[in-house]
Amino acid sequence: MKENVFNREAKVIRKARSLLSGDVFQQEDGKQSYRDLLMEYEKLVRQSKRLLKMGDRMQHALSSLNEELQLREQTYRGIFENATEGIYRTDAQGTLLEVNTALANMLGYKSAEEYLVSADEIGTAFNNHHVLGQYNEMLNSKQVVKGMQAKLRCAEGDTVWAEINAGVIESQSAEGKQVAGVVGVIADITERKRMMREMCRLARTDCLTSLWNRGYFVELATQEIVRCKRFDNDLSILLVDVDYFKRVNDRFGHDVGDKVLVGVADTLRETLREVDVIARFGGEEFVVMLPDTGLQAAQQAARRVRNAMREQVFAYDQKHPIKVTVSIGVTAYQDSSTSLDLLLKRADTAMYSAKHKGRDRVEYCPLDSVG
Ligand code: GH3
Ligand code: MG
Ligand code: MG
Repeated sequence: MKENVFNREAKVIRKARSLLSGDVFQQEDGKQSYRDLLMEYEKLVRQSKRLLKMGDRMQHALSSLNEELQLREQTYRGIFENATEGIYRTDAQGTLLEVNTALANMLGYKSAEEYLVSADEIGTAFNNHHVLGQYNEMLNSKQVVKGMQAKLRCAEGDTVWAEINAGVIESQSAEGKQVAGVVGVIADITERKRMMREMCRLARTDCLTSLWNRGYFVELATQEIVRCKRFDNDLSILLVDVDYFKRVNDRFGHDVGDKVLVGVADTLRETLREVDVIARFGGEEFVVMLPDTGLQAAQQAARRVRNAMREQVFAYDQKHPIKVTVSIGVTAYQDSSTSLDLLLKRADTAMYSAKHKGRDRVEYCPLDSVG
């Protein structure tokens, strides 16, 4: 408040006071009325001063609020524009109001404006209608969406894997709280997904031969046996052990031995069907599960494998071609009492029988043999 705003009023009051102290008033009545009037006037001036001060304070508070608002707006803009994650804001019906450049770029558009021209609603970004339904359902029931993974559609028709975190914004009005819109953050997790898949694959794979490893074989075979029990399907197991493999290592070295094991794995892949599950069981021992295959057909397949191994020359050099043979134990699923353990035990027994009978041969374990 400016100091001199009430100068005129102060002058008037001073003048009135000096009049009162002089002998201008002939009658006491008149003087008293004048004094009362002056007091009222002084009160009015004091109130006006107070009102003006209050106005000043309100003005000050308002401009601080404005500054705070601008600061917040700048902070929000800074986050919005510089975030590497995509950010969007919609109204309560899901109509897109704004998106940042990161989201537009993630979905294959050059700018936020370009994306907003082609998409009216956040829903159009979802590749799967069912997932969009879940997104809307979560917002309706919980007001937030946390860590939802969804495939989003891109400009050129391809898709990206995204993780969505979103929340409802509410506005307070005389009628109470109302949904004003939704703000969401979208992270591109395509690479994370690819790495997860790769990690899963590696955890299931034998790193030398790229066949399945023992653990994953057990998992797959256990599932398949459950199906056999339910649908009375056939299933057979082959246990394939390389004969005298130690000699290969001793003669050519461990590295060459490794290459031969890779060759054995390739031969198994080439000889068996796509649906057959081939795994490295350990060392120079391989296991095969033949779904929908009875004992006779499994024996035929085993003979095919044995013959293919015999034919195979694992090139080391021209002078020292390496050839190996295999001994194979075969067994088959019998009835609902057949477990994977039992099948593996029987296949092992059959395989050792092949070893004892001279190697490079196929032996089977009769279905009625116990253990
Ligand atoms: P058999 O006909 O009785 O099966 O004789 P074998 O020599 O194949 O059997 P044995 O169990 O005596 O030897 C297996 C050899 O396989 C010994 C081991 O060093 C070798 N081996 C196991 N795993 C690997 C591997 O990853 N790489 C290489 N190069 N050799 C391996
Ligand atoms: Mg062996
Ligand atoms: Mg062995």
